Formats: sequence, C-alpha cells, structure tokens
Amino acid sequence: MPGDLLSSVRKYIRAVAVGILGLDEDVFEALIEPERVIEVKIPVKMDDGSIKVFKGWRSQHNSALGPYKGGIRFHPEVTREEVIALSTIMTFKNALLNLPYGGGKGGVRVDPKKLSRRELEQLSRRYVDAIYKYIGPDMDIPAPDVGTNPQIMAWMVDEYYRLTGLNTPAVFTGKPVEIGGLQARVQATGYGVAVVTREAARRVLGGIEGRTVAIQGFGNVGYHAAVTLHRMGAKIVAVSDSKGGIYSSKGLDPVEVKKVKAEKRSVIYYEAAEKRISNEELLELDVDILIPAAIENVITSKNAHLVKAKLIVEGANGPVTPDAEHTLYRRGAVIVPDIVANSGGVAVSHMEWVMGRTGERQDGEPVLRALAEKLVNAFNDTWKLWEKELKAVHQPLRIAAYCIAIDRVVRAMRARGWI
Ligand code: NAD
Repeated sequence: MPGDLLSSVRKYIRAVAVGILGLDEDVFEALIEPERVIEVKIPVKMDDGSIKVFKGWRSQHNSALGPYKGGIRFHPEVTREEVIALSTIMTFKNALLNLPYGGGKGGVRVDPKKLSRRELEQLSRRYVDAIYKYIGPDMDIPAPDVGTNPQIMAWMVDEYYRLTGLNTPAVFTGKPVEIGGLQARVQATGYGVAVVTREAARRVLGGIEGRTVAIQGFGNVGYHAAVTLHRMGAKIVAVSDSKGGIYSSKGLDPVEVKKVKAEKRSVIYYEAAEKRISNEELLELDVDILIPAAIENVITSKNAHLVKAKLIVEGANGPVTPDAEHTLYRRGAVIVPDIVANSGGVAVSHMEWVMGRTGERQDGEPVLRALAEKLVNAFNDTWKLWEKELKAVHQPLRIAAYCIAIDRVVRAMRARGWI
C-alpha cells in the first residue's frame, strides 16, 4: 500500500505537470525526486533492560519555497516510500496555501501504543539525536502526525535545546500551550474543513444553512467540523466512528453526541438518534454534503455509484480513490480535495512558527479568523482556475489545486536557478 501511494502520487503529479501544465519531462524529474532522505536507526533502552532498535526516516522533498515542513508519524507500518510520498504531498499542500515552506515528512516504524511513557520519551529524544543536524527553524520544522502528539513535540524541542544550546520554540510546531503551542491547533483542521465546506456549499448548493451533512469519523477532524457546521446552520444528520454510525433526520447536536462518545467510547450509544447505521450506509445517504473524515480509500470504484451527495469534502487524507473520483465527477458531484480541505492544521502551524520566531503571542478567535482567510483564499484560487480552464475539459477540482501548487513550486525553482 505505501509503495502504491508513492507511485500514485508520482503518476498524478506527472499527469498534471507534464500533461496539463506542459512542463518538460526533465522539469518533472527535478520536481519529483526528494532532495534528501535521511534514514536512521534508533536504539532505545526498554523498561526490561533490553535494547530495541527502531527504524526511522525524514524525507525532505523540496525546499524551493522555504524550509521543509511536515509531521512525524509513529506507526508500525511506516516505510521509506510512504514517508517520501507524504513529504511530496506536503510540498504541494504548503504551496497551495501560499505558505513559505517546502515539504517534509518524518516517520518511525513503531507501534507507540505498545511503549511505556518512558520508552516513548526515549524514542522521541533518540529520533531527534539522529536528525537534529538537518532540522531547525530555517531548515526543517516538524510537527505531530498520526501516532505523535504535543507531548512528543515537547520532548523533541527539549532534546533539540539540549543538543544545540538553542532554546528555540520555532523548530517544532504542534507543541503544548505551555511552551509556545496554540490552543487553536486542536480544532484547526476540523474548523478549516467546515469553512471550506461553507465556501463550496455557497457555490454548489446555494448556501450552507439547512443543508444536510453526513460525517464519517467523529475524531478530531470530524468532531470539530461537525460543531462548526452545526453553528453555521447546517443540519448534521449522520456521524460515525470505527464501531458504526447514527442517523437522525431532524439533525444531531454534535456536542451532545461527543458527551456520549467520551463516556461510552462510541457514537453508536447516543440514544436520541433515530437509528443506527453502518459506515457503508453513511456514505450512501441521500444528503447534500458528505465529509469522509476518518481514513483513506473509503469511496472506491465499488461504492462510488451509490454515493448520492452533491458535495463531497475530503476531511481525511485520500478518502476518494481516483477511479471513484471519475465516477462521481461524471455524475455531477463536486469533490473538494484534501490538499484544500484539511490544511487548517498546517496553516495554524505556520502561525505558531511565526510566533515562535517573533516572540509575540496570539490565540483563539484571531488565529481562527486568519486561518479561515487563508483557506478561503486557497479555495477561491482553486475554484476560479477550475471554472476558467478545467471544467470545460472535464477535469475535477483536484487538478486545479495541483496546477496552482505545482506552478508555484516550479516558479520558485526557476527563480533560484535550479531548473
Ligand atoms: P482521529 O483518530 O482523531 O479520528 C478518526 C476517527 O475515525 C475516529 O472517530 C475513528 O473511530 C474513526 N475511524 C477509524 N477507522 C474508521 C473506519 N474504518 N470507518 C469509520 N470510522 C473510522 O483522527 P483525526 O486526527 O481526526 O484524523 C482523521 C483523518 O484526517 C486522517 O485521515 C488524518 O490523516 C486526516 N488529517 C488530520 C489532521 C489533523 O490535524 N488531525 C490534519 C490533516 C489530515
């Protein structure tokens, strides 16, 4: 699967760069290869006295627009290829948002749930020992991703300080509030998904108010998207988690559903719902808006013809496969791609980085307002290009997003004299 991700990312970027933007094959080659991939071994002394060696990577894909930026993933199935693919996506996500960053991504092959707190701290610190010469506020700024969190960022910042003598908060983002993190980071991605959904609904459905919404995945992204959309006047009729989903034609109150999930560990125990549904049924509901916000590859060639929503917003990374996108597009559905919809996290990370460098602080509403402005701009740029040049030739919105992002990176590479 991760190998597939790398080849499909490359295929996709080639199709846009060479096929649509008309760039030369050698420009594509210069664009696609990562600038540096660091592979490290990380020995950790376990609680039982044994030494366990973990494998880790940091892929620095492209720095034409600025220092590399992207998360660190702790997951048992992380591979070198997956890390390279994710760093490539970050290059274009950052470019689309107009952030002064290149793309990076890190990973360690480990199941963090199987480590004690002490072992997790050791692993986090040893990973920084292995890569610290290649990261820094002007070089490469990691952040949390799957399996990592603000506490891990705090240990990493501290290890960087210990090794370099530089007590700089701007070397990592997604830190705890106590050492320069932002409260707004927690809700940023879901809030951003809601803002982008509102903008898309304005164009596709004539507005967000009263529109019915189904959200797959009631985790960090899904919950905050639900709360914000509910506040905007949309009607959240279905939500789900890995145990299943619930439906209510009258609409659900996300805050009430969350209370039940917090207590009983799943939304399915919310008794005020009209009925329980499966995750498959949720995707096929007759709703205005569908937000897959759980995992990748949930809308595929097998079920795309059953999806009825007119507007699909990718809260998760890669929930709609290319085949499915094709089917949905022919049916007249609009898909807002992940690199537009779920980039609220990296947008707020950028604000955290700026504050780490200037020493000035801001949080809460002003940060969310600035985030909304960035995302609305990225969405509008994408929509305008799509309407002007790509709609008539039957290309989806995702192509427009990649055209803008690739063009920005290539222009920066040219300006630097790299190509
Ligand atoms: P999370 O772990 O907080 O929540 C995931 C939710 O999905 C949970 O409710 C879980 O029960 C549910 N889920 C898991 N497997 C499922 C399945 N097979 N069917 C239905 N539901 C399932 O994770 P998150 O941070 O909300 O991230 C969700 C997605 O958004 C991921 O694809 C992630 O990569 C992407 N994303 C997250 C962020 C962020 O800032 N958190 C940023 C960008 C992208």
